[in-house]
Amino acid sequence: MAPALAPMDVEERLSRLRAVMSEAGAQAPVDTLVVTNLTNIRYLTGFTGSAAVLVAAPDATSLITDGRYAEQASTQVRAAGAEVTVEIVPGPEQHRRLMALLGGTRRVGLEAESITWAQARRLAERPAETVATAGLVEGLRLVKDRGEVARIAAAAAIVDSALAEVGPMIAPGITEADLAAELDHRIRLGGAERTSFETIVASGPNSALPHARPGGRRLEPGDLVVIDVGAIVDGYCSDMTRTFGIGELPGRSVELYRAVERAQRAGLAAVRAGVAASAVDAACRQSLEADGLAEWFTHGTGHGVGLDIHEAPRVAAGADATLAAGSVVTVEPGVYLAGHGGVRIEDTVVVTDDGCEPLTHSSKAAVS
Ligand code: ZN
Ligand code: ZN
Repeated sequence: MAPALAPMDVEERLSRLRAVMSEAGAQAPVDTLVVTNLTNIRYLTGFTGSAAVLVAAPDATSLITDGRYAEQASTQVRAAGAEVTVEIVPGPEQHRRLMALLGGTRRVGLEAESITWAQARRLAERPAETVATAGLVEGLRLVKDRGEVARIAAAAAIVDSALAEVGPMIAPGITEADLAAELDHRIRLGGAERTSFETIVASGPNSALPHARPGGRRLEPGDLVVIDVGAIVDGYCSDMTRTFGIGELPGRSVELYRAVERAQRAGLAAVRAGVAASAVDAACRQSLEADGLAEWFTHGTGHGVGLDIHEAPRVAAGADATLAAGSVVTVEPGVYLAGHGGVRIEDTVVVTDDGCEPLTHSSKAAVS
């Protein structure tokens, strides 16, 4: 049995949501928010089912779902301690129930990033004003509580162990797909629900493709091998990339590796509460520029990690977020030389007042 994880503060989240709903601003205030993003519903209520709408009205919160989830919804909401009334309503009748719940409200917020066009049109038929909102719940999700960090850390630890176990297999002859399968298998055996995305194992020239899918190519001496992998524990994701060298590497590959290692260190050193997320990206980019490689760093430096593998804040040029203590982000610079190969190194870290604490701990001494 895995050790119990620190509890999460789910019961406080709805009152924090109401505070941001009532704030004046570009999109708020709204009296009532209709939450259609299932990850946001999970965050606010603990409910993990695949079909639900949450109505956060001024004085009550209702979770509407269907008969498949009758027992699960009440059990999970109770376990989370959320003050939510679960309503089991057959699919065809849910719209009418929703309209009834929205009866007394003046301004209804709809989650623009997740509601369907059809749902939004049907809700706009009522007399009250409907308003597109974005990022209200996601804004709350930016800062993780102790229980959330514990889950991400547990997911990261499972991947660290799995990668250490498959370490001896990262050798000539094995295919990318088999290596990915070995890793995924150990991640499941290690106690994860599943991987947090399709594991990337990209070898030789494939390592120059940032999001390559593992295929039938066999690892060869002289290859760079990029392995990007994460796990999920109790809904929370981890994310880590390591690049391995197979046998003796060409000098150019070693140079690339050292340059990305330096850039990643510079990025990690820039992470601190109060710093612009874009400054972390700039730190990585400047380091690669000094090595003449900035033009081959073709993606942003990182992203938030939580219930979603990619969530706010974005860590990239032009990102407007300021890092906050308790945010969990990745730092993952990479360089990709078409036809030659690529290197990416990624850690998931918790932002603190004076820096950051890594949650991913696998060795970076994979290229020597
Ligand atoms: Zn990754
Ligand atoms: Zn990532």
